[in-house]
Amino acid sequence: MTPILEARDLVRIYETREGLFGKVTPVRAVDGVSLAVSPGETLGIVGESGSGKSTLGRMLLGVDPAQGGEVRFGGAPMPERRTPAWRALRARMQMVFQDPLSALDRRLTIADQIREPLDIHRVGTPEERASRVASLMRNVGLRPDQAGRYPHELSGGQRQRVVIARALATDPALLVCDEPVSALDVSIQAQVVNLLRDLQETTGLAMVFISHDLKVVRNLCDRVAVMYLGRIVEEGPAEALFARPQHPYTQALVSSVPVPGRPLDSRIILQGEPPNPAARPSGCAFHSRCPVAEPMCRGAVPGLRVTAPGRASACHLVAGAAPASAA
Ligand code: SF4
Ligand code: MG
Repeated sequence: MTPILEARDLVRIYETREGLFGKVTPVRAVDGVSLAVSPGETLGIVGESGSGKSTLGRMLLGVDPAQGGEVRFGGAPMPERRTPAWRALRARMQMVFQDPLSALDRRLTIADQIREPLDIHRVGTPEERASRVASLMRNVGLRPDQAGRYPHELSGGQRQRVVIARALATDPALLVCDEPVSALDVSIQAQVVNLLRDLQETTGLAMVFISHDLKVVRNLCDRVAVMYLGRIVEEGPAEALFARPQHPYTQALVSSVPVPGRPLDSRIILQGEPPNPAARPSGCAFHSRCPVAEPMCRGAVPGLRVTAPGRASACHLVAGAAPASAA
């Protein structure tokens, strides 16, 4: 099956300056990331803050430009950013962010906000748009009497439902969600995650789900990519990756998720904070925190290698068969 979304060797470099006149340091926020998402599949992207996952999410939709590499959507190269062809394609790929309030216009009723993409992309007649808005509201669990409300009159969870309804208005093939539940009350998070799963199952939409919350990712995603300092260090089916993480970084992340029956002291505590992306350690960037690092890890960068069908790891100590391709 042709992937709906394919990224090859994506690179995004920021420049940071120390102070007003300090020296400018290039930061490789995303450094050679390749991935593919099939129609109907949910790919989770996990990692600590600063790992480049949000930047990657925006690059996948062409919202953030890439300095290197390529994104393909539906088998064709992504059109140049901000061109009419790209804008037309944006109806097929949508994004849901962490903070629903800043994603919504406080002067518009929720029905108007959900209808907006239909107006922009000139979908259907005014009557058809109105009935589409009503059915979208139903699908995300909003009541008809909420149509005339404004964002500040809704709870956080209801606002995120509005954002999701709007994202789905144009019937996209791909939804990129960046921490869509982390700003919500814990009691509401599961409802919104279940909503996303139901919508994904009924519409056959492909999803990229960016999160630092491994429990949610395990629950929702088919496949998972783990990022550390701008690179994918492990990738695999969610089941296998959580049951038998291969990369020492993934092992530490997974060990921090409480599992019934597993003793709490099996948790692997990483020493130190994630390094500053502007001062990436040499060799394996994880070597400064890796509990099993060897001297060689400081020198040679481990490539992402296929370790089993559908699985890949970037670690010198994990036996690999062949360099991983984008698939
Ligand atoms: Fe640890 Fe070395 Fe593997 Fe990096 S390459 S994860 S430092 S063992
Ligand atoms: Mg982020």
